[in-house]
Amino acid sequence: MICSACGKKLTSGMIYKIDVSTGQKYKSCPHCSAANGQEHVFHPYPANFGKTPARTSAKNPHGAQSYCIDCRALNKGVKSRTFQDGVLCRELS
Ligand SMILES: [Zn+2]
Ligand SMILES: [Zn+2]
Repeated sequence: MICSACGKKLTSGMIYKIDVSTGQKYKSCPHCSAANGQEHVFHPYPANFGKTPARTSAKNPHGAQSYCIDCRALNKGVKSRTFQDGVLCRELS
């Protein structure tokens, strides 16, 4: 599925945006975006994601976790419960 706001895949967890009014960084969560089904759902980064050196790679130089903390705590196959708390793609520049 494709995001209706930016046209990128909803499964991408590598999209970073900044709220220009607050300077807060946001990152997309693929699991929350899938639950939304229309567009990317963002959460504050790094606070809602955390980092791990184990995930650091050329593609992911900051070692960011793909899923937000809440989604990582879910059992496999369980739909995101926090996607409604996130910020939608079209609300961020
Ligand atoms: Zn998007
Ligand atoms: Zn999530």
